[in-house]
Amino acid sequence: MLVPKRLSIFGIAFAVCSALATPAAASEKRDGVTYRLDNGLRVVLQPMAGLPSVTMLVSYGTGASADPPRHNGLAHLTEHLTYRGSRHIGKGGLIPVLHSIGAEYRGYTALQSTGYVTTAVAEQLPAMLWLESERMGFALDGIDAAALEVERRVVVNEVRERGGDVWAHIADELYGRDTVYAEEGDSGRLTLGDVQWFFQSAYRPENATLVLFGRFDPDRARALVDQYFGPIRASGLAPIGEGPPPPKLCGSHTLDVHHPYRDASLDVVWIVPYDGSPEQRARIDALTLLAGNWIRGTILESGFAGADVYARATSFSTHALWSATIEFNAGTPAWKHAEALVWHALTTAASEPISSAQLRSMRAELLTDLALAWDDPSGAVSFLADHGPGGLDAYRKAVESLDGAAMQRSVAELLPQDRVLLARWIPKSDVSGLGVVGRRKDPCR
Ligand SMILES: [Zn+2]
Repeated sequence: MLVPKRLSIFGIAFAVCSALATPAAASEKRDGVTYRLDNGLRVVLQPMAGLPSVTMLVSYGTGASADPPRHNGLAHLTEHLTYRGSRHIGKGGLIPVLHSIGAEYRGYTALQSTGYVTTAVAEQLPAMLWLESERMGFALDGIDAAALEVERRVVVNEVRERGGDVWAHIADELYGRDTVYAEEGDSGRLTLGDVQWFFQSAYRPENATLVLFGRFDPDRARALVDQYFGPIRASGLAPIGEGPPPPKLCGSHTLDVHHPYRDASLDVVWIVPYDGSPEQRARIDALTLLAGNWIRGTILESGFAGADVYARATSFSTHALWSATIEFNAGTPAWKHAEALVWHALTTAASEPISSAQLRSMRAELLTDLALAWDDPSGAVSFLADHGPGGLDAYRKAVESLDGAAMQRSVAELLPQDRVLLARWIPKSDVSGLGVVGRRKDPCR
């Protein structure tokens, strides 16, 4: 139960973060509210009367970046173990109960947070809240040596599979988390005491946000949240896991990953400033649209037959990663040529003036993307956890006031040629070791 494979350890993709108002949603009454319980739990309620179901996110502000040295994988292992049981649910665990109410659920461990998303028909809201309050307050009672053994094996297998994920390798390179191999090594060493320490440090109301999105009566939901979460006491401990500081890129880094199952591709990755505000998120989305379109157009027109190009950003509270991926579907990968085309595209993007018609169509495209993301409740709960209900209008205003010259300046300032990570997927014929990192060149060291 980690985040979807393509997103890997970075957790929530920027596409998800762009959850915003749609023409349809905009006409619905939105009267979301954010408040805190006395124990510090932050609650965001966003009723959507038109939906048949309710989606809940409980997110803890601690993730893989809080794993202590030689304890890589502790956040992830703890995430798994909190499904194994609790004081009042017993050893059967949370999953049979989730099935019995027909819920869809997933847990994820990102670099900066750990989250649990559950969706069920609206009538099941009390059961959903009870289950999450059991996890927050009492999951420690369900974690024993037998459960630890089982989940340790599950996590090691997931990590082994992630050896095929270039984003895990990029995380290693940028954050030094050793998420690919060391985690596997450390998982075997992690003890019950480690998990108990991590749970007590991270799974506390004052370190958590609870979001409800969908069909529910706000007054009744508020009473139920009070009933189930109100009695959980704040720990009074100092917070752990402030989140990863922005990594350093002091030149052009190259990372080669040799892999048996993937086509050749090139990831070009930048670290860009981001403070968590909806306004900055809108600027980065605009950058993704402008620079991404130029890179896509330049590559496709240049004779890279069948190549696919994706641009995206992944945000943390202290910074974001902006990246373009060029997948070579046919022929011998021409890395240097692809790189040169990316630089050419960015130079053009920073200098070709944007007409007011282009600007209008970019704004419309961003608002459409938001509309699509808002249609996905798991995107909506992430956005609400980050920005609250008011973030919606702030984001839309920021998109509407985007200025072409500023967008061009951000291409030049934020995507420089001399502070960048180039990660290359290189196909290999033999399956041993999955994603083998062939060469690291770090100009910072
Ligand atoms: Zn997992």
